[in-house]
This record gives sequence, C-alpha cells and structure tokens, in this order.
Amino acid sequence: MREYKGSLSDQWYEYKYWCKTYGEILKFTASGPIPVLKALLKYPWIYDLLKINATAKRVTLGISGTPMKALDNSIYHLTKFIVGQLKNAVFDPENTVVHDVMLPPLIVKAMHLNTLVPEAIMSVGVAMCDIHAAHSYMDYMVNHGLPADTCTFPKIATGAVVSGQFPSASCIISSNLPCDSGQSSYYAMQRKLNLPMYTVDIPYNFNEEEGIDAVKEDWYGAIKFLEKHTGHKMDWDRLKVLCENYNKKLELELEEREMLRTDRPPLAGAVIQRNHTVHMNVNGGSEEAVEAFQETYDLMKNAFKNGELAVKNLRYRAVLWNPTTMCYYNWMSWIEQVWGVAILADMETYGNEKFIDTSSNDAMMSSIAFLSNSGPMSRHTRGSQEHYIRDFNKMAQDYNADFVIVAAHMSCRNSQAMTGIIREECKKHNMPLCMIDYELFDNRIVSRQGIRDQISNFMRTVMHAEPLNESLLVIDDEKNW
Ligand code: SF4
Repeated sequence: MREYKGSLSDQWYEYKYWCKTYGEILKFTASGPIPVLKALLKYPWIYDLLKINATAKRVTLGISGTPMKALDNSIYHLTKFIVGQLKNAVFDPENTVVHDVMLPPLIVKAMHLNTLVPEAIMSVGVAMCDIHAAHSYMDYMVNHGLPADTCTFPKIATGAVVSGQFPSASCIISSNLPCDSGQSSYYAMQRKLNLPMYTVDIPYNFNEEEGIDAVKEDWYGAIKFLEKHTGHKMDWDRLKVLCENYNKKLELELEEREMLRTDRPPLAGAVIQRNHTVHMNVNGGSEEAVEAFQETYDLMKNAFKNGELAVKNLRYRAVLWNPTTMCYYNWMSWIEQVWGVAILADMETYGNEKFIDTSSNDAMMSSIAFLSNSGPMSRHTRGSQEHYIRDFNKMAQDYNADFVIVAAHMSCRNSQAMTGIIREECKKHNMPLCMIDYELFDNRIVSRQGIRDQISNFMRTVMHAEPLNESLLVIDDEKNW
C-alpha cells in the first residue's frame, strides 16, 4: 500500500513515475521477448531489478513536494540507465564493452560502443532493489576463497560474474581504481569472462602534469586496443559532442552547488549523490544524462525561487564523507525526518569543477585523463593524505556544515587508516564529528538499526538535539528489501 502524499498533485506525480518506470521495463521486454526470457533464466538478478518501484516507495516514504519529485525522477532515470545496460548486454554484446565504473565512458561511447558496467548494475542497481540479493553474491565470493573483509563494493559485481550470472561482451576496459580491491576484481572477472582486457593505470602523482600525461597515453592505448578488438574507430566529432554534454551538466551542477550553499538549500541528500554518480560518472556525456540532470536542476531552481526548503524542519546542515551507506540507502530520508538534518554534499559528488577543453582532440584527451585521475575515491586513495584531508575540510567549509558525518566503512582499509587523522582535524577545527561504523553493502555486520542508533546517540550527546519524530527512532526493517 503506498502512503498518501498529502496532495493530489503529489499523488499524481508519484503514480506517473511509477508507470513511467514500469513502462521502461515493459518496453525492454517487448523489444525481444525470447532473448529477454532467456536472459531472465540465466541472470536471476534481473528479477530483483523489477523491485525498483518498491525502492522508490521506500526512499520517498514520509517525503512530499519537490524532494519527493526529485527522488522519483532520479529513480526513473536510474532505471532507464540500467535498462539501457541490459539492452546492450542482451541484444548487442559484440558492440558492448565491460567498463570499469570508475572510468569516464566518453572514449568508449565516442567509438560508438556500448558500455556494460558490472558495479553499476549489481552493486548499485541490484543492492538498491534488494540488499539480500546482493548478499548472495558477496557470500559466493567468500565461499570461493576471497577474504571476508574485502570491500563489498567490488565483491558483489565480481560474485555475479564469477558465479556465471553476468553477461559477456566483446572486451574489458578496467583500471587500478579506486584501490587494490577494485583493481583485483577485474582480474577475476577477466579470467571468468575470458575476454581481452586493457587496464588504464592511474599513477601515484595523479594531479601532476606528468601523471595526467601518462594517463592520456594510456587512453590513446585504449583506443588502439578497442579498434583491434571491436573493429570500431574513434569518432572525434562524437567525442566533442559527448564532452560538450559533460560540460553542460557540469555547468548545471555548479549552479546547483551554489544553491545548496545558501541558507535556503532547496534539495538535499540522496538525489544529489545519485544524480552525480550515475549521470556525471557512469553515464557521463550521454544525451539522456543531460536530460536527467536538467530535470533535477529545473525542480531545484523552481523550489529555490519559491523559497522551498530541502527538509521541512531544517535544523542542521551536514556533509557526508566516504561512500553512502548502501546497505541502508534510504537513511538520508530518515535523518531528515527524525533529526531535521539536510546532507548538502558528499564525498562522491564533491570535487571536480574543471570543464573539458574541447579546443582540439589532444586537449579533450588531456581533460579526460584529468577526469579519470580525479574521480571520487580515486583521488582520495592515492598520493599523500593531504589529498584526502584537503577535500574533507574544504567541503565542510564550503557548505557551512554544522557537523560532518563520516561513514567509516569497515572494509575500506584506505579510509579506516585515516580515522585518527580525521578525528584530529575535526578537533582542530572544532567541527562536531558523527562517525558511523558500518559495512558498505552488508547490514549483517552493522544493522540498519545499528546505523540509526549511532546517529541518534551523536545527535543527543553531541548536538544536544531531541528527535522531531520519536516513533521513527526504532524501526523493524532488517528484513526489508
Ligand atoms: S570503499 Fe574503499 S575499499 Fe571499497 S572500493 Fe572504495 S576505496 Fe576501495
């Protein structure tokens, strides 16, 4: 049963997006019922993806108006992206490349090739639809010898591939990002899929000219590799269009950030993070991504003009460091409703403000190299600790945060090693710190209630706040998808 949103227009909007989302799935099924049926039998997680409208219901629970519309819209565009990925895999595998989630897809797309991003489908799509389905892939890898404390982000995707439940393609473009877990997952995938693989190697000195040039050369090598293994040629005019699309989105995103920095932020939380991750990173440069970004921007701008607030009872401004708690992805809606906290920026979204230089082919390649080097997690997990701390402090300052939330993902050795330094920095800057211990995709390690309790303890003992809604402090949701 869906909750009544409090106005007929909101209710109609929800219903419309419910239909639009299922419409995308139906269109996919109708485009080739037999191959789709075969794929359903081979890849059981496709059933889990069908739960996407239940996901939309959970993320918008208790939320209405513009924030609800933006969330519905972002789930719809995420569905459209994942359906597009499935289409590539089912109907056009020979023109599809398995593509590392951490790399910009601009080069591959400019060669008129499709991407298939295992982490985006499995670790984002499937886990959001049903976290228990994602557990089975993590467990598969542990049962086959992978240490249990390996990061679950690459572990889910690798589990799907190694268990034979992921489609193949023509070749693989991988990288050494964001860390050793991410890099080694691609060797396991390559062995199972038995495809030629090219690895883009991001160096230690990633933000120096020498490091950017090295990655540019790597991307030129990737073009040759793709030409050899797919027969496709680089279309420089198409690359320019994709880069211009990326720049359009960045322009909108920078304006969004300006609105978020004011004392009347019109949107907050998951929608900001999800739109960036999907439409700037994984689906970067595409026309659909520009459309999705423009729609959120329009909603935001309109709400800003009307003086609407991101959170009804806004009491605190916060920023999030480290990846969001994917095992409890709707926690941002919870913190808004119970504690009146708006999360205005997060590590994955924050950072790159540099446009792609489209003045020549080589200039575009240099900008793409810079973009590859400066992705979230990537620029924080190599080089000296200053890369990590500089962004951490600046983000809190830029958004005038009342406190910082650090999602201390237990299997991320990179960020765990920084815990002490983060604590010292917060003390130095007199910044309240809410540190949540959790495992990125595994709520069997720290439960969703465990995450809520840590936040509530912080809000009470450090911020001396009282909840806006006592009835939501404890929720029985461990078995929920
Ligand atoms: S969260 Fe940490 S361990 Fe996991 S992929 Fe990112 S950098 Fe690697």
